[in-house]
Amino acid sequence: MMVFDLRCQHDHVFEAWFASGDAFAAQQAAGLVCCPLCDSSAITKAVMAPAVAAKSNSSSDRQRKSELARLAALQAEVESRCDYVGPAFATEARARHAAKVPADQPPPRGIVGETSIGEAMALIDDGIPIAPLPFRSRRTANA
Ligand SMILES: [Zn+2]
Repeated sequence: MMVFDLRCQHDHVFEAWFASGDAFAAQQAAGLVCCPLCDSSAITKAVMAPAVAAKSNSSSDRQRKSELARLAALQAEVESRCDYVGPAFATEARARHAAKVPADQPPPRGIVGETSIGEAMALIDDGIPIAPLPFRSRRTANA
């Protein structure tokens, strides 16, 4: 959609939306474009405004912000529930998976860390439940 600033023969300036510049030209030639103030169909283009989709832009901004907020909440939850093990992730994951937790003990905390794609695939192949996180940990191994 394009928005045009239009001007009638009586100098009334108004805005109208058209599918394209050609659509405007066709409707103008057919006398279908009328001034909303005086109904004149002697219309010319005033200054053309750029086609801006302000509404959809701001709604996608809002959507992006809410996605980021969800992501931040997820990150906070992961960081509060899991221990950061840094690059030792694969080794730690295997050790914890192999460890037997006594029935009267609470389940161990989860871990977050870094690993390579190859190591991640090997963990999955070995039946160790891991999942990629859609963010980098804010912590470091020293924290
Ligand atoms: Zn007019």
